[in-house]
Formats: sequence, C-alpha cells, structure tokens
Amino acid sequence: MKPEIIYFSVTPRVVPANATSEIVIRPLFDHSAFRDDLDYELAYFPSEEFAQRSGWPENTRIRAKPENGAIRFTQYFEAEQEHAICLESLNGEERKQVGDFRVYSVEEDLYARRAYKGDLHIHSSRSDGRETPGYVAGACRRIGLDFMAITDHKQYGPSIEAQEAFRGVEHDLRIFRGEEVHPPNNPVHMINFGGRFSVNDLFVSDEYRSDVARLERELGPFPPGVDSYQYASCAWCFNKIREGGGLAIFCHPYWYTSHRYAPSGAITTHLFETQPFDAYEIIGGKRNRTRSKSRVTTRNAQRESPFRLLASATHTAASGTRSSAGTTRLFSRARPSSLTLSAA
Ligand SMILES: [Zn+2]
Ligand SMILES: [Zn+2]
Repeated sequence: MKPEIIYFSVTPRVVPANATSEIVIRPLFDHSAFRDDLDYELAYFPSEEFAQRSGWPENTRIRAKPENGAIRFTQYFEAEQEHAICLESLNGEERKQVGDFRVYSVEEDLYARRAYKGDLHIHSSRSDGRETPGYVAGACRRIGLDFMAITDHKQYGPSIEAQEAFRGVEHDLRIFRGEEVHPPNNPVHMINFGGRFSVNDLFVSDEYRSDVARLERELGPFPPGVDSYQYASCAWCFNKIREGGGLAIFCHPYWYTSHRYAPSGAITTHLFETQPFDAYEIIGGKRNRTRSKSRVTTRNAQRESPFRLLASATHTAASGTRSSAGTTRLFSRARPSSLTLSAA
C-alpha cells in the first residue's frame, strides 16, 4: 500500500460527477504533518483525460497553503472517472512528492450507494487452507473487510464455525455461510455464497441424479466436446444455490492443473455462452493468477459478460493485506443504521 494512503486522510474520496467539490488532505501523524518552512503545490489530473467542460489546464500546478494543519482545494470533477491529485513540497529548488492521492467522481446512481469490501471465496484448515475458520474470519476483520464467508471444498460446516466463533461478540464484519461446491464426476467448481443450505450435501440424494438426467435432455443438444452430464450438473447446482438465496459463482474458470485447463475448454466456453451463474471469478488463487486473468480479459473483450467478481481464493490469512489484492466491492443502497451487522 502506498504510504500516503496510511499517512493522510483525503475527504471526500468519492464525489458527485459533474460538480465542484472541496477536497481536504489532512496528515494523520506527526511524521506526515505539513511544515511551516515548506511551500506546497498541487497538480490535478483527470486520469481519463476527460475534463472538457472544466477546461482542464494540463500540467498546471497551484500553490497550496496548509491551514489548521490541512490543505483544502476545490475542483470541478467531470464525468465518472478517477482523478489524481499530486501534492509536492518545495524547499527552495528542491521539489519532493508528498503524495499521489486519488479521488473518484461517480454519477448519482453509484454516489447514492455505499461501497463494501469483502471476499467471497476463502479456505480454512478444514479444507486446504492454513488456519481455522474463526481465525480466518478474525483476520478478515483485521484487514478491514466488511463481509466474507469460509467456502471450504465440499463443506458448509466451516462457514457456520466461523459464525459461531464470534457469537455474542459485537463486530462490524458480516460473516456469511458458504461452501465450494464440487459435484461428483464434474470438474467445475462453484461457490455457494450466503445460501441457506449446503448443496454439497444433496449429491447423495436420488433427486440430484433424476434432476440432472432430466436437465441433460432438456438443455441439450450440446456443442461438440461438452459433457452433457457435467453441464447439466452445473446448471442444477447454480439453481440450487439460488434456491437457498445464495450467490452462484463459477470459480476459477481457467484453473490450470496437470498441464491443462480443468474444466475443459468446451464446457467453459458453453458456460460463458449460456451464463447459468450469477457471477464468475476474474482472479482465482495465487498460482495461476496471470494465466487466468489474461484468459478472462480476452473473454471479456470478445463478448458482453455478466457480473464479474474478484476473488482471492485465499488459503492463508496470516499474510494479512495480501488477500486484499483480490477482494470484491459491492455497492449497497444504504448504510445500515447500526455498524453491528448480524450474521445470516
Ligand atoms: Zn476450486
Ligand atoms: Zn477454492
């Protein structure tokens, strides 16, 4: 993380698009305090070079004078984009960067919402993660997540364990139930985030076999190379996850293992074409991040895609902020009246 993010507060960070707002940059610590013996200059850049209406004067610096320990300035923030605000200190001829701060302007629909940060795909030591569910939830709280679920392989229980670990404790992390769904003889992995019941537990039922056989007939014929059972099994799982009120996520679509993609390219392509899921992961896991990201980028360039998610698929919380590289932002209509969110 850039030091200026920790050493200074910038308020507001999110401003209405196509309006003038006042921004305040305030040092949070003695070691980052503005000094009386230095001069300060600000340069403003709309990151998409989109600022026609404000007549943005490129590469213009303005003098900034700290007042009551803070620097204030007003700016017209055009359109929906990221804006860079570069603050420098001047000591005679010597120019030093204090910080490269970012402000985001958004239209009314997003401005009215609250951004929450969370992780929808996490493992604990109950599958191939390293720490217990309660520890992982605590670590999520420590790095400032708003929501999470333990989604262990074929198990719903660890997500309940994470909730139980904080029973009776007031905290501001919303711990959801969840699991990673692995159907028998189907290499497609799916996340059940927030569902009221386990989908993994249903594979032993006769209902699963008969429903999937029916879906194979109804959803076919399938393109060459698509295994009809595997596709029907995925469709069944995504529907079941939704039936329980969960978010159905196609995990790590380009999982590279044993020198090939698993699931096969044919079924992945057919899943993307038919989109029986709510969302899919852009980044899954650490090992194949670059490969899966470039494949998904290509995929997105090829066609309009549904809701995309970042997921860390983290297997250890001990590294703290590292898992935040793959968190997901959701935009809620309103902030709850109390910071204490009850776990579902
Ligand atoms: Zn998986
Ligand atoms: Zn996983």
